[in-house]
Amino acid sequence: MKNYGLENWSENNFAIRDGKVILNTKSNPSLLQITNAIRKKDVRGPIILRFPHIIKKQIQNLYKHFNYSIQENNYKGSFKAVFPLKVNQFPHLVQAVVDAGREFNYGLEAGSKAELILAMSHINSGAHITVNGFKDKEMITLAFIAAQSGHNITLTIEGLGELKTIIEVSKESKLIVPNIGIRVRLHATGSGSWAKSGGMDAKFGLTATEILEATKLLKENVLLDKFTMIHFHIGSQMDDISPMKRSLREAGNIYAELKMLGAFALSNINIGGGLAVNYSQNSNSVMHNYTLKEFSSSVVFLLGEIMNAKGISHPDIFTESGRYIVASHSVLITPVLELFSQDYHADLLDLKEINPPLVEELHELYKALSSKNAIEYLHDAIDHIESLLTLFDLGYIDLRDRSNAEILVHNIMKKSLLLTSNLHTNELKQLQVHMQERYLINASIFQSLPDYWGLEQNFPVMPIHHLEQKPLRGASIWDITCDSDGEIGFNPSAPLYLHDIDLKKEEYFLAFFNTGAYQEALGMAHNLFTHPNEYTIEIDNQGFSISNEEESKNILEILSSIGYSSQKLLKKLKEDLSSSKFITEKEKNATLSKLETYIYQNGYLRTTS
Ligand SMILES: *Cc1c(COP(=O)(O)O)cnc(C)c1O
Repeated sequence: MKNYGLENWSENNFAIRDGKVILNTKSNPSLLQITNAIRKKDVRGPIILRFPHIIKKQIQNLYKHFNYSIQENNYKGSFKAVFPLKVNQFPHLVQAVVDAGREFNYGLEAGSKAELILAMSHINSGAHITVNGFKDKEMITLAFIAAQSGHNITLTIEGLGELKTIIEVSKESKLIVPNIGIRVRLHATGSGSWAKSGGMDAKFGLTATEILEATKLLKENVLLDKFTMIHFHIGSQMDDISPMKRSLREAGNIYAELKMLGAFALSNINIGGGLAVNYSQNSNSVMHNYTLKEFSSSVVFLLGEIMNAKGISHPDIFTESGRYIVASHSVLITPVLELFSQDYHADLLDLKEINPPLVEELHELYKALSSKNAIEYLHDAIDHIESLLTLFDLGYIDLRDRSNAEILVHNIMKKSLLLTSNLHTNELKQLQVHMQERYLINASIFQSLPDYWGLEQNFPVMPIHHLEQKPLRGASIWDITCDSDGEIGFNPSAPLYLHDIDLKKEEYFLAFFNTGAYQEALGMAHNLFTHPNEYTIEIDNQGFSISNEEESKNILEILSSIGYSSQKLLKKLKEDLSSSKFITEKEKNATLSKLETYIYQNGYLRTTS
């Protein structure tokens, strides 16, 4: 894996220069420069960096490809898109999406009442709001209020019940009726690990019979003029384009049939989201089998073909891809707090006058290690440490012997890795499992990479500096939660190698990429670690600027967000300390202010300098 697969997953957003990861735009600042500028302000925990220029690029790409395909295919409808808020609802992200989308009239999609309120309050004027998901009468009324307030809104119904409620509200109030879309249930199924949205047994959508019934209801209630859209969504992170093509044929024919049945206002096909993002650091594991170019041209071509065959005018095409738009915009940067094997520094070796024979032998191996014998001695060392640990369990060697043995074995491993660093045998990869270094990061996997925990979704990870040196340590990454699932293990078939850094002398930062979609919204406060500090970074030809600093919740805020009274907490802490004995008033006051400092900080560790 050369350069951590950067060419594979970074879409040219990042590059390596002078051993550092830089942004591949304008003044090319390095992630290290940005990180250092932020840490100067006494920030110690993990940080999220948002890059609005990457969002802009994605939105531009989406429109560019579809508009090009429309031209190429002489297609008569236009292309429209909305951003699904469930992918990331954080304020500075939404603002960046809205700003970047203004010139395209890029809209928002809402899947809940809260998201609908968010959309109504943040949408660019004139841009489209679509509403999906299950709705009650209140949510439907909210859509009427949105229409009344001047928004261009389409309420997509997931079932006949919702349509009946729309009819009810339209009768009860004089508010403007929103446009109505119908989510169709397709027999063509989705693909990829998130494919639960398509298929006959899907959670969402109306069957053919229900669609006919819905059209009848609309006609009877004089609402056919509001029926403007049909919608489907076959699932996220589509790895294969063929189910999309099957779905388009099916939905396209449903559209054409409905037009022929008199749905005169129908003018949009909404093909949902699902465009995939490349998360793979491994060049030989391609995640999806299509490009945006192929995708857009297939969509436009197929729809045109179906409509032409039935003599129906071309519909406008809507998409709701969210992952594709924002996954790449943010980077999570975490300091490394510890390399566990540095507890085995050779300086700590404390050999006795006379040592157990196996310890003596390890010492001999260590001294005689050379590139010629490295692998052989490595095998011997691994063999010996197993025997020595057994001897310890049986009481034959003492703790000091065991400590010496562990130190020697670790140093033999380390040295032999250096000596064999130009060999790439499978055997060495397997040995790395034994020799892996554990890197403790100041972050929570549950909070910041929940899809790794829940779906084994890998995110590209690499150091942001030291890249002029070859990384030699097979690495596993441990987070600071006290949960054993908070670990990204070493995988011999997709090995991650990191640098051997003396953290007493210098810092080491790892970055996780493509974390901008879903991770923040899904992040869990396991162990009460909360959303990290975040910053928006704008880059120009001179340098970069940092804005929109949002600090991670402090300890008191975290506790009160789950229902504790911060006043009661503070009072209890202060009372207990005040009534304690054996320290002077002065010391008490100093301790009290220390306590206050701590609880008004976030819960991440502050160990690195
Ligand atoms: C989740 C969702 C999307 C977004 O999917 P991505 O994979 O992020 O593109 C779009 N439309 C609907 C209806 C959704 O539920």
